[in-house]
Formats: sequence, C-alpha cells, structure tokens
Amino acid sequence: MIRAKKSLGQNFLIDKNILEKITNTAKIYEKNVLEIGPGTGNLTSYILKKKPKKFLLIEKDNQLAISLENQFKNKVEILNDDILQINETDLFNEKVTVFGNLPYNISTEILSKWIVNLKDSFWFECLILMFQKEVADRIIAERNTSDYGRLSIICNWKLNIKKVCDIKPEAFYPKPKVDSSLLFFSPKKKFFKISDPNNLEKVTRVFFNQRRKMIKKPFNQLFNGDKRVLNKLKIDLNLRPQNLNFETYYKLAYEYENLTR
Ligand code: SAH
Repeated sequence: MIRAKKSLGQNFLIDKNILEKITNTAKIYEKNVLEIGPGTGNLTSYILKKKPKKFLLIEKDNQLAISLENQFKNKVEILNDDILQINETDLFNEKVTVFGNLPYNISTEILSKWIVNLKDSFWFECLILMFQKEVADRIIAERNTSDYGRLSIICNWKLNIKKVCDIKPEAFYPKPKVDSSLLFFSPKKKFFKISDPNNLEKVTRVFFNQRRKMIKKPFNQLFNGDKRVLNKLKIDLNLRPQNLNFETYYKLAYEYENLTR
C-alpha cells in the first residue's frame, strides 16, 4: 500500500462515478492526452479505457512514477518530473487534452503560468483541472460579485471556463479538509491583444488592492489622472473594482501598456 505524502498534496480520487465523469468531459479516443500528477493511476486507468492516441503522464513522486511504470507498462509514457519545471509546448507535436488532479496550489500556479505563456496558437485542446472550491469560484466569478477579481479577469482573458462539478472530500483518500471543483477550460478563438500579460497582472493588482474603495485612486496611480483614457473607455471613477467588466480591464491593460512603452 502506498502512503500518501502530504508535502506533495496527495489526495487520490477513489469515487468511481467521479472518475467516470471526469473522463466524459472531453473526447479521449484517438486524442493526445497529458495527465499531470497521476498518483496511483486511478484516473489513468479510466482514461486508458477510452483509448487515447498518445498518452503521457507527468508525476513528480519517484516512488509513484516507478509503480505507474509497472502498472501501465507499454501503454503510457511517463516523465518523472515536476510540471512546474517543464516547457509545456515541448511535449507534443499536436494539440493535447490535459487532465490534472494536482495539489491545489500547483493547479493555480500552473494555470497562471500557462496563460502568461500562451501565444496566439494554443498547444492544448482543453484543460480539465481540479481546484479547491473557493478558488474555482473565484476563477469562474462574474462581475459584481464578491468573488470577481484578478483570477477571473486573467483566466477569462484567453480561456472559456466551465464548472464541471463540485466534489466532496469523501471522493478522495485521504480526505482533504475542503470541497473541490473540477473546471473545464478551452481556448478562446479571439481575445484582446495585450503584448505583455504582466501589464494585466499589474492593472488588476492595483485596482483590486482595495476592493471596497472607489477606483479613483488606483486609476490615478496608474494613469496620472489621464482624462483621455477616461473618456476613451468611458469609465466612472466612482465605481468599485468589481463593477468593471472583463473587457474594461483588458482595455485598461492595453492603455497602460502604451503608456509605459
Ligand atoms: N490524479 C491522482 C492523484 C492526485 S494527488 C488522482 O486523482 O488520484 C496529486 C498528485 O500530484 C500526486 O501524485 C503528487 O505526487 C503529484 N504532484 C504533486 N506536485 C506535482 C508537480 N509539481 N508535478 C507533477 N506532479 C505533482
């Protein structure tokens, strides 16, 4: 029996209905599939049943990587590596479907990294990733809600996002302390052009620094009270950060970028 390592956020999915549901969220047959953090291979078995074309696993834990090797000999490729250290675009020549039930902090980190790195052509068909429910709620949040903020604005920039389902702690072994949610991401065909994603990060960071206050202060801080930008984007400075829609933030990042160039 393999002992779960807390340091690697190991909570293995054991609920068969959930495992089945996860593999039904995307086409797998004859597709390239990447699974990150396969652990003891529970989800891996379900994915294999659907006959992917090329199937690659990336698992950081050496012990687990060896036991996956024994379990799925010749059926999968295994990289014993840290997903955060990998250049995602080097892995496949064709588009890939990504599944990941990773530690929660890694899910968020990898998603941000991948969004920042994304060029005009996408290397994936879709991403199916597990998050802590609170974080998932922030990712999918709409304007005028308390969850709306940096994470939703940055993720919505290049991705369509859907919640597949919420998942209770009982679906895992060992049981995590919090609820989880599975999210499905697919590339947007058209997205707002911002050359450097750091500008979007900066604008959202400054605006949401004080989310209950009016946006007058953060706006002036970034744009020196530039009336031209204000008129162009038709922004009311008496609003709060959560009242501005996605598009307005992308436009603000664009204007900020031109200012600082
Ligand atoms: N997907 C499996 C296991 C989930 S536990 C299941 O649903 O049952 C999370 C897994 O991610 C563990 O196997 C852990 O070793 C692995 N992991 C943690 N950090 C990682 C990283 N940075 N890169 C790759 N794998 C990682």
